[in-house]
Amino acid sequence: MAIDFRLTGRQHELQLYSRKFASEVLSPALAAEALPTPEQRFAATKSAYEATIAAGFLRKCIPLSAGGENAGLTDTAIMIEELYAVNASVTLTLIGTVLGLLPLLIGGTEEQRSRLLPPFLKQAGAPLAGFCATKPGGSANAASPPPGEGVRTTATLRGDRWIIEGRKSWVSSATGWDRKGADILSVLCRTDPDAPPERGISVMVVERPASGLVFERAIDSVGHRAHLLPVFGFEGVSIPSDNVLGSVGGGLTLTAACFTGAAALVGIFAVALMRAAFEFTLGFARSERRGGIHLVIEHQAVGYALADAKTRARAHGSHAGRRGRELRSCSSVRAPVAGCAGASSLRRRQHRRPASTTPRDFETAGIRSADDQWRGRGLTKAKLFC
Ligand SMILES: Cc1cc2nc3c(=O)[nH]c(=O)nc-3n(C[C@H](O)[C@H](O)[C@H](O)COP(=O)(O)OP(=O)(O)OC[C@H]3O[C@@H](n4cnc5c(N)ncnc54)[C@H](O)[C@@H]3O)c2cc1C
Repeated sequence: MAIDFRLTGRQHELQLYSRKFASEVLSPALAAEALPTPEQRFAATKSAYEATIAAGFLRKCIPLSAGGENAGLTDTAIMIEELYAVNASVTLTLIGTVLGLLPLLIGGTEEQRSRLLPPFLKQAGAPLAGFCATKPGGSANAASPPPGEGVRTTATLRGDRWIIEGRKSWVSSATGWDRKGADILSVLCRTDPDAPPERGISVMVVERPASGLVFERAIDSVGHRAHLLPVFGFEGVSIPSDNVLGSVGGGLTLTAACFTGAAALVGIFAVALMRAAFEFTLGFARSERRGGIHLVIEHQAVGYALADAKTRARAHGSHAGRRGRELRSCSSVRAPVAGCAGASSLRRRQHRRPASTTPRDFETAGIRSADDQWRGRGLTKAKLFC
């Protein structure tokens, strides 16, 4: 079957808009990467992140029905490739925020969305959200049954409040610009220590400022030099009982739904890096003689190597783009989201479902694939993020 890789006119405009923004705003922001500590570097990107929000890139990742302008995962991929190829740190701060919002967008009720989403729709400020799954010493195996560690952060219901205890690490932007927390955190917690993971884990929203959120240190990441990846604790963090996203005990299914779309975008990150590396190498080969007579590019073997690298990079791009389109195809089901194969099990576990949500909204989430993944292979084999 032939695959059409051409962009629509609107997608081409989005690509050029993103490319121009990346070159004018995100490229100068790379200067932050020269600062000595990860926290200083992250703080120095705040104005570039504000500009990213003001330029509408966060709104373009939020579905129309939730008040945003998202036109599908393919568009998100086009935009993210352009931004990430120039500045991986600020772009990951943006996508980390999108990931932090996904449990709310997919599993949240109308009330939760209208209460928690507005700061992210404003196109102003530097709003941050984080998805807190990973923890020190255990990451890819969130769904592991005992004796594996799986999710060890706990949430215990006391009266009408959940009390969260535990530690997390590697969570993008989690402790925010000032160590007091991102605006909202979606936190994977064990809510029933005796139930199997698929029934004993839930996603909770912690709103800023959260007393008991304790910053420990920022990881000095090799690749994302100016992006915040903290190790931190929840020490008796108290949240209202209606801050559970989806159903109590349905956290792993919701997590799988969130990470399926995000995983396709991580593929795009790799494509963007390959592109940046290719462009750097091509520039070098075209301008350097390295003490010889000929430009490096004029050596035939170099041309072959570059052509091979470009072919592989574009093949990866097509594969990641195709994954995005496949996720989109789930959304072409002409029925409410309840009719979407994977959504049905999520619906069974949800107390209340946002009435306005349509299949198209799930382009960013790929919920059918997520559920297939959950049923077929188990979240234990799903890499969460990066
Ligand atoms: C830049 C960056 C940003 C991040 N942002 C976030 C975030 O916002 N939120 C968050 O929660 N986490 C975040 N993380 C953490 C990330 O999600 C984890 O690192 C990831 O889930 C664990 O994958 P891993 O490959 O590091 O696995 P590890 O647990 O370290 O395992 C290492 C490898 O062992 C193999 N393996 C392990 N278990 C299995 C299995 N059951 N089956 C098959 N193979 C297996 C896999 O090859 C795996 O890659 C971030 C990480 C980075 C680097």
